[in-house]
Amino acid sequence: MNDTIFGKILRREIPADIVYEDDDLIAFKDISPQAPVHVLFVPKAPIATLNDLQPNQAELLGKLFLAAAAYAKRQGFADNGYRCVINCNSHAGQTVFQLHLHLLAGAPLRSGFG
Ligand code: AMP
Repeated sequence: MNDTIFGKILRREIPADIVYEDDDLIAFKDISPQAPVHVLFVPKAPIATLNDLQPNQAELLGKLFLAAAAYAKRQGFADNGYRCVINCNSHAGQTVFQLHLHLLAGAPLRSGFG
């Protein structure tokens, strides 16, 4: 993972509430939750933004979504539903430049894309 705050979490240099980890990715609770459930799923490979994802990393992105869906099922909110978001660069508000998937759940979420 590149040298972002998420890299520090992966290397256990700063604390985080880690909820899942395997060979390819790590997931932890967002420090500033935007919903009752807000977990970040982060690949361990250094990928700054979605623009930097390579064709040979397609499976990795699938694993990211599958891990999020498995977490939703384990935690019991899969049927009620949840939202997965990837922000890319400034217009989307990306602030940490290591690719990550936001999983938001736990209440009806505001609709819209603004
Ligand atoms: P983004 O705006 O898509 O780049 O999302 C970055 C997310 O990382 C934000 O929702 C932040 O609240 C979250 N974040 C930043 N620092 C930490 C941290 N130390 N632990 C957990 N989440 C963090």
